Amino acid sequence: MEHMDGQIMEFMALAELNGKVCHLKHSPSSNNENHPAIDYLCQNFGDMGVVIDSQVRIPICAECATALHGKEWLLFYCMGCNSSQWLLKNAARRHYDEDTAVMWMKACPTCYTKSDYEKD
Ligand SMILES: [Zn+2]
Ligand SMILES: [Zn+2]
Repeated sequence: MEHMDGQIMEFMALAELNGKVCHLKHSPSSNNENHPAIDYLCQNFGDMGVVIDSQVRIPICAECATALHGKEWLLFYCMGCNSSQWLLKNAARRHYDEDTAVMWMKACPTCYTKSDYEKD
């Protein structure tokens, strides 16, 4: 495939969002179907020297985008099982930089539980 410039990639990415719903965690009483994706949360791991060299793109809704742009909430995202968890920074036990919006994890407690299960 020919090299595509950034604008075309962006356009295609947004077109793909049609019909997608938010992939981040919402309260159990609020079905994700009610949160249409309007953007992607992107992270390029190629620069971080991590083995995963692709860019991660997670569809997010307007509500999550607002939370990510604010300074109040921190999102934990697990690359292992694609689960996510929100944390109110004021309620955190340790201090998080106010500019930190997302903590990317390679594994979470759920992942460890799963791999333990697979060993049996
Ligand atoms: Zn959302
Ligand atoms: Zn996990």
